[in-house]
Amino acid sequence: MSDEVLYRVDGPVAVVTMNRPRYRNAQNSAMTYALDDAFYRAVEDDGVKVIVLGGAGDHFSAGHDIGTPERDVHVSYPRRAGLWWDHVGKSGAESRYARESEVYLGMCRRWREIPKPTVAMVQGACVAGGLMLAWCCDMVVAAEDAFFADPVVRMGIPGVEYFAHPWVMGPRFAKEFLFLGERVPAARALELGMVNRVVPRADLERSTMDIAGRIAKMPRLGLALTKRAVNQAEDLMGLHAGMDSAFGLHHVAHAHNAEVGADALAGHDARSMRDAGSPS
Ligand code: ZN
Repeated sequence: MSDEVLYRVDGPVAVVTMNRPRYRNAQNSAMTYALDDAFYRAVEDDGVKVIVLGGAGDHFSAGHDIGTPERDVHVSYPRRAGLWWDHVGKSGAESRYARESEVYLGMCRRWREIPKPTVAMVQGACVAGGLMLAWCCDMVVAAEDAFFADPVVRMGIPGVEYFAHPWVMGPRFAKEFLFLGERVPAARALELGMVNRVVPRADLERSTMDIAGRIAKMPRLGLALTKRAVNQAEDLMGLHAGMDSAFGLHHVAHAHNAEVGADALAGHDARSMRDAGSPS
């Protein structure tokens, strides 16, 4: 297991921890594939009934890596989420679409289908690409200091690649969330139904492990079938097809940015996005 992700088993619960706290757990591809390794390991271990996903340090995840020294967008990894060709060595939309289909949308969809219950344990920032990881988990337990935001409309992009917004918070608030791009505190996220529980920061791990341990008392197949039943219902409410259509629009935006400006992110980097997202 690589350093980007930590893995431990505590009784019937596997705890998977994003481990780039210096960069607020910004996700590079190395982390994405390490997460996939960890989830695979947890699924294969018959002793594991529930998976908890957390982030080391003060923040769950500030999003995709768009500027750390270990940003690895030009590195090839053996693909797992689909059979689309490698993005490396391709240009323009052909490269971007292939890459994001694999490491963003495809991976999150793959993890949503993990046949064991998953619980996100969220403190601090859960922003942009960070939302995708929390949302593809079955439950979200948030600390009181957690905040949620998708500021990518500032880049001219209609939300992150795993476009679950209208389903996890309702279409009316999804528009506000995206139009304003502001931080939504944990208490508001609870009102909206985006998270299951809000607990004091000091109790986050204990509370999450307590819930995971109680879920683990249920029979394995019953949990797997229940998860599938709810996911299928969510897809019948349009989640899967809606995400496909939004993904196309997302790539129109990337291509437009690249066509008229400096790059696919409209010239933004991690610092400019963070500064723009600071409470005024
Ligand atoms: Zn994108």
